[in-house]
Amino acid sequence: MKGPGRMLQLILESILKKPSTVSYPKFKEAPLKSLRGAIAFIPENCIGCKICMKDCPAGAIIITKIGEKVFQAEIDLSKCIYCAQCVDSCPKKALEYTTQFELAALDKNKLKVTTSGKLQTTTQNETPKSE
Ligand code: SF4
Ligand code: SF4
Repeated sequence: MKGPGRMLQLILESILKKPSTVSYPKFKEAPLKSLRGAIAFIPENCIGCKICMKDCPAGAIIITKIGEKVFQAEIDLSKCIYCAQCVDSCPKKALEYTTQFELAALDKNKLKVTTSGKLQTTTQNETPKSE
């Protein structure tokens, strides 16, 4: 079938088909587990070697010693390109990527995440916070 008949057939088919997309943000689908979202820091695992800082291509992570064998990470999510190189480079599994991707903010300073304590649960449009 060609011409207007074929077009009409396609229109009818698409009307009856389930939509391929969802009406975001009203409806949300679970992100893929392999999604590389915001980077999270697990302070109790960190030994302060700073390999993550050296390997980060965007200069988005700063590790600072704040006490005896206690380290703090500042991750600038506005600079981060979510490559997960820091996660791969860390010898102690002190960094991991999350599936958190809703990170838009009007003020980029709000995307600087400093973590030196136990990670708190985050909600939509919030970045991981420190205790
Ligand atoms: S590479 Fe891992 S252990 Fe080393 S400073 Fe970075 S987060 Fe800490
Ligand atoms: S994910 Fe990539 S850009 Fe982001 S902090 Fe880690 S190494 Fe840097």
